[in-house]
Amino acid sequence: MGIAPMLFETLSETFERLETTSSRIQMTAILTELFKKADPEDIDKVVYLLQGELWPQWKGEPEIGVGEKLLIKALSLALATPESEVEKLYKRLGDLGRAAEQLKASKKTPTGGLIAFMGGQTRKLSVSEVYNSLARVARLVGEGSRDLKIKILVSLLQDASPKEAKYIVRLVEGNLRLGVGDATIMDALAQAFGGSDAARPIVERAYNLRADLGNIAKILAKEGIEALKKISPEVGIPIRPMLAERLDNAREILEKVGGRGVAEYKYDGERAQIHKKGDTIQIFSRRLENITHQYPDVVEMARKHIKAREAIVEGEIVAIDPETGEMRPFQELMHRKRKHDVSDIAKKYPVVVKLFDALYVDGEDLTDKPFTVRREILEKIVEQGPSFSIASYMVVEDPEDLDRFFLKAIEDGCEGVVVKAIHQKAVYQAGARGWLWIKYKRDYKSEMIDSVDLVVVGAFYGRGRRAGLFGTVLLAAYDPEKDVFKTVCKVGTGFTDQDLAEMNKMLQPLIIKHRHPRVVSDIEPDVWIVPQLVMEVIGAELTLSPLHTCCKDAARQGAGISIRFPRFIRWRMDKKPEDATTEKELLEMYIRQMKKIEETEAPAP
Ligand code: ATP
Repeated sequence: MGIAPMLFETLSETFERLETTSSRIQMTAILTELFKKADPEDIDKVVYLLQGELWPQWKGEPEIGVGEKLLIKALSLALATPESEVEKLYKRLGDLGRAAEQLKASKKTPTGGLIAFMGGQTRKLSVSEVYNSLARVARLVGEGSRDLKIKILVSLLQDASPKEAKYIVRLVEGNLRLGVGDATIMDALAQAFGGSDAARPIVERAYNLRADLGNIAKILAKEGIEALKKISPEVGIPIRPMLAERLDNAREILEKVGGRGVAEYKYDGERAQIHKKGDTIQIFSRRLENITHQYPDVVEMARKHIKAREAIVEGEIVAIDPETGEMRPFQELMHRKRKHDVSDIAKKYPVVVKLFDALYVDGEDLTDKPFTVRREILEKIVEQGPSFSIASYMVVEDPEDLDRFFLKAIEDGCEGVVVKAIHQKAVYQAGARGWLWIKYKRDYKSEMIDSVDLVVVGAFYGRGRRAGLFGTVLLAAYDPEKDVFKTVCKVGTGFTDQDLAEMNKMLQPLIIKHRHPRVVSDIEPDVWIVPQLVMEVIGAELTLSPLHTCCKDAARQGAGISIRFPRFIRWRMDKKPEDATTEKELLEMYIRQMKKIEETEAPAP
């Protein structure tokens, strides 16, 4: 017996319940209930809509792309209300979704010819109807598309109940903000279809190999947990990247990898996961965006140099000086972010690719194979050339050799090295930061061991010259266990006037009235910000602070860990909030810092 298609009413009610809870346990329970009710054929749509999207970003498909003006017009037509009235209410409430809800509720019988009545009642919208309409709106381009977009939206809004109208508007605006993270969705999927707690790691592994929660949900709902266990990577769906731990001492690094490892140059470029199927090449970034169009030259190289029919390989795209062929810093790649004239830009700012892993080749999942096997296969399937080659490396077991190789890497324009374990258990840990890869970077020699990447969760208005503008932001680290962001410090220095103007622009659309459910803070900023933007900061040192919630009670009872004299370095637009420095990493940095201080202050024996 099949399950009836889910009504959009059910999803809207769930959205509302999610909005009023900040407890992750409760959110999981609500989602579990929802997933159990979903038709397995449509569950992917339910998952995407919960994430406020229509498809994973890496698909490179358009976003809904309807501006506020158009949406107001659609609302005015659907409600037979002048645009000025819609705008007035919107201004008063500061929320177009709520304005739509109120206007809709105030109209007893909507006018307009597109409504089908069923027994005197407006017909009910299904989730897939809403999804398909929004997808059509997103994909419409070219002449006449504006009118058609309006028409589709009008029809949807006419059929919607007040509550549904609110959420349709928010979805169109890209402004759903339920605060449901991937981790919570995975918890709920495991509970709804997995049968026991043992299902959670299976769901997570599947997601790590195929970064598409909708796809995972559908396989799970249709075929069950056993099918999910057998999942392997698929060309065209990005694998979540393996990440490195960090240390600043060659001896310790070698101990961690079991005495012997491979040290590879840590290139200062952009990470690229290259997917090849026949002649079709796709490139995904570290945060799994589809960046294929930025690198037509890399597409050509991959076609020519990868000899396997199907492959997923990983490497770093590095800018080079067209005159000398020397490596240039990461910032040079920013030229590639342009949408137009990409081929000209590619000639003007050439790149090379330095490969470091093979994850899937001709039907075989390599992620559970040891590093040495993966490397052997990589060398076999890649015909190396000057612009497409394997990362420089050296097998090391002596800390002095490692230090020498590290200095050579820096001399050659790299950030340092990544040391990789080569024992039998050194698998590719998709989606995880672990000790099988350890980065050893130059800037560890600075006072504060390294810069950190923190998420903006609140903002404060400035004074004097900066009055009326946000001058300081509240920053937080990520706690992956609880899937929340915990505050670390406030940052108000290091910004140029231009940085500040840009930051104010970036923050405006992310302002919310209440603390975001995924933020843990004892400080009340002037405004709360949806955790989305990642900022790199550095300071003089890590300190204990009773004001902040990150690492609360971990180093000392009643205190969290904070940063003294933090200053802004740059935005990390390539990182998602979940890629920010974690609470655990900060604690480890603090412990290492204290150890260093103890060593230098200890009296001579
Ligand atoms: P960072 O801010 O130090 O770049 P991150 O958090 O962005 O770190 P990490 O995984 O911690 O990412 O550092 C490893 C990054 O270094 C990879 O994402 C990759 O882009 C880059 N890299 C350069 N060379 C290599 C290499 N040989 N092996 C693995 N990663 C490499």
